[in-house]
Amino acid sequence: MPRFLLRQALLPTGWHDNVLVVVDAAGMIASVTSGSVAPDATLLDGAVLPGLANLHSHAFQRAMAGLAERAGPGNDSFWTWRETMYRFAARLAPEDIQAIASQLYGEMLEAGYTAVAEFHYVHHQPGGVPYADPAELSRRVLAAADASGIALTHLPVLYRYGGFGQKEPQERQKRFLHTSDAYARLLESLAPAFRNRADRRLGIAPHSLRAVSPEMLQEAIAALNAIDAGAPIHIHIAEQTAEVEDCIAWSGKRPVQWLLDQGIVDQRWCLVHATHLTTDEIQRLAASKAVAGLCPTTEANLGDGIFPAVEYMAAGGRIGIGSDSHISVAAAEDLRLLEYGQRLITRSRNLLAGGADRSTGRRLFDAASIGGAQAVGQPMGVIAAGRRADFLLLDQDAPALAGKNGDSILDAWIFSSQMRSAISEVYVAGRRVVEQGRHIRREAFAADYRKSLTRLLEE
Ligand code: ZN
Repeated sequence: MPRFLLRQALLPTGWHDNVLVVVDAAGMIASVTSGSVAPDATLLDGAVLPGLANLHSHAFQRAMAGLAERAGPGNDSFWTWRETMYRFAARLAPEDIQAIASQLYGEMLEAGYTAVAEFHYVHHQPGGVPYADPAELSRRVLAAADASGIALTHLPVLYRYGGFGQKEPQERQKRFLHTSDAYARLLESLAPAFRNRADRRLGIAPHSLRAVSPEMLQEAIAALNAIDAGAPIHIHIAEQTAEVEDCIAWSGKRPVQWLLDQGIVDQRWCLVHATHLTTDEIQRLAASKAVAGLCPTTEANLGDGIFPAVEYMAAGGRIGIGSDSHISVAAAEDLRLLEYGQRLITRSRNLLAGGADRSTGRRLFDAASIGGAQAVGQPMGVIAAGRRADFLLLDQDAPALAGKNGDSILDAWIFSSQMRSAISEVYVAGRRVVEQGRHIRREAFAADYRKSLTRLLEE
């Protein structure tokens, strides 16, 4: 069985030196022993962290990052950005989806993410007719995940309506749409690709309360439970104040309040964004044990607002991070901005450290690694027996890490390093996929990506 000797490693009990990790044939950790001597083991000569889960991704949006930064005639907002996104989504062919996702997943691995939850909502041909295999675009995402080596939680999106109260969808939303029956068939056809794989999980993503009816939400959960009763359920919620107002007009309740009142939210759930919360919603969401899926760089890019992280984490609320629209793919940057948003609105510092003399970087990393693992429903998040052997080796020669030890490594990585550059090697299920800071297929992915982008942007 492969054996790794980690010079310094973050374990559930804190930092340990000379940690021997034995990995089984499936890439799962069989044992962890600190203070070991093992000259025959593969040496990871530096600080080693568990791999992070990127809990929210729309892979195709990687290719439109940077295309929505030109001011329009009126007030630019999430809703004007969405028009650009719809125009872009309308042009994508299956090979584009695969090329973009492969490039993105390679970047994610370089950035410290060893798993991704893909919130996948472009399903059909332009115009809305399903492909001969209705799961065609999902299979392209699976192929990209396999090519890159990233672990995948695939979340086919259920999308049916154009607004609260079952408004008919727009023309531009037709590539996204399913009936409940067609959606259940899509899940069934995908399920075999997820069986007996420690690096894959199939879940669901009802897009938002504006895009599905209450009945469809229940039907989607029932369809998932027939396949995997513990699998993740993700939903966009309360990202925009206009969405909160529309939800109140429809139901008399705010989105998070409405969802919590259904009595179904538990540890399987990831409420993506959940930006706009009342004090009561903060307490109730924290108590539900669901994960709030935070995407600070995207939320900043879109002008969404700032999640009340201080109050929510003080209440024991669980979080994870995602790169969502991929205007940035850097775990350290999203964690940094999460803390900085709180600093900027409160005019104070180290707000998420969780107590006096505690490291902000450590608290952020622990919360995101454990919450992220829960949200993607995969055995990861800590270096321990029974978990997958996902490791990030930080570059001990990185200037930002010079002279640092223990939690100060995390503070330096998150708050003072140049994004990805401090990660030198990444392992998923015991297999090395990033060497010297570069994904092993970086050049091939970039060539295919350039080809797709050149064609897409020419049209
Ligand atoms: Zn999203």
